[in-house]
Amino acid sequence: MTIAICPGSFDPVTNGHLDIIQRAAEIFDEVIVAVGHNPGKTPFFTVEERITLIKQVIREARLTNVRVDRFHGLQVEYARAQKARVIVKGLRALSDFEYEFQMALTNKKLAPDIETIFMMTANEYSFLSSSMVKEIVFFGGNPDGLVPPAVVTALQKKLEKRGKING
Ligand code: ADP
Repeated sequence: MTIAICPGSFDPVTNGHLDIIQRAAEIFDEVIVAVGHNPGKTPFFTVEERITLIKQVIREARLTNVRVDRFHGLQVEYARAQKARVIVKGLRALSDFEYEFQMALTNKKLAPDIETIFMMTANEYSFLSSSMVKEIVFFGGNPDGLVPPAVVTALQKKLEKRGKING
């Protein structure tokens, strides 16, 4: 049985993420979507909110061999603890490559038994990032088709709440 992890911040999950998760679920016996805190990014949704959204989206997509979890620390340590042999990453533009290349080689040094596998983004999602989605919603745009419907609702609710807090 081969277990793979799909790590990321998923703030929030987009159709680009979902595409990678779905494709990984067709190849591996079990896929764990591992939601982590990225110290370089200020989160919009809490980790709990992100996990709830991903669970809903996975349920709606009927992905029965995918589960969601949170993780702290190194991806390879987490992978080992879960008995996962593979880390699956999505690659969008050239801009993703340098960082992911560095990360994959570092992870290989730390844990030679764990393999990083890259999947090319689907053409229609090659430009898509969580930050782009947040920007669209922030400026009153419609992110339909870029994120699952549950995420559109959650984004709008969160912005309304923030608007109230900020006066
Ligand atoms: P982001 O860079 O949007 O904040 P995450 O840290 O949540 O994304 O990314 C988790 C994983 O999903 C990474 O491997 C990332 O490259 C991949 N990913 C993100 N957006 C896309 C997309 N539109 N197409 C393919 N892979 C993606």
